Amino acid sequence: MTFENLQLNKNILRAIEELGYESPTPIQEKVIPLVLAEKDIIGCAQTGTGKTAAFAMPIIHYLHKIGNTKKAKKAKVLVITPTRELAGQIADNFTAYAKYTNVTQVTIYGGMSVKPQIEQLQKGADVIIGTPGRLLDLYKQKHLDLDSLHYLVIDEADLMLDMGFIDDVKKLIQLTPSNRQTLLFSATMPLPIRELAHEFLQKPEYVAV
Ligand code: AMP
Repeated sequence: MTFENLQLNKNILRAIEELGYESPTPIQEKVIPLVLAEKDIIGCAQTGTGKTAAFAMPIIHYLHKIGNTKKAKKAKVLVITPTRELAGQIADNFTAYAKYTNVTQVTIYGGMSVKPQIEQLQKGADVIIGTPGRLLDLYKQKHLDLDSLHYLVIDEADLMLDMGFIDDVKKLIQLTPSNRQTLLFSATMPLPIRELAHEFLQKPEYVAV
């Protein structure tokens, strides 16, 4: 299996080649075609398996195809992740794979001044990557517009449960359009995460590596 086989856009393939990735990891082989086929997904995978690229690459493929970026920048993607560090890593992945596209992003997390984050949201971006509490705060202050979302990614769901963020995550999910495509990743599948998936995903494909 090669990245070419996965039918990703050549602008993304070029970035992947420059990064020196030779072939997709098992989670990427399974998840990328399902995302491109517009399926909801439950991905059971640890960090280190390449799961970030598994969702970032097909999402960038879609954004590049629709050419969202030249128009009014209403966010098309929300990635919810538990920590500032993970938000930064996901943002770095998007930056790397989107190098030869016009896809833009903002990172929103707690523990630092809101002002620059609000300014970035006002400028607009295709992808919003953030931690649950700060995302909800900014939504309440009317700085976060989720009406045009196409993708919702819930990353490290079990960690968000352990950290006590699950109610904030549920509130955020309920603020997104019901016709979104939802991708949920979790290293383990405790009952509250299975219940959340059952409540908010539509006929999800289950992928484990
Ligand atoms: P993740 O599991 O998303 O945290 O990714 C772990 C690391 O694997 C990251 O540093 C990625 O840059 C790298 N990576 C992701 N996909 C591939 C691939 N297909 N080939 C080589 N490295 C990869």
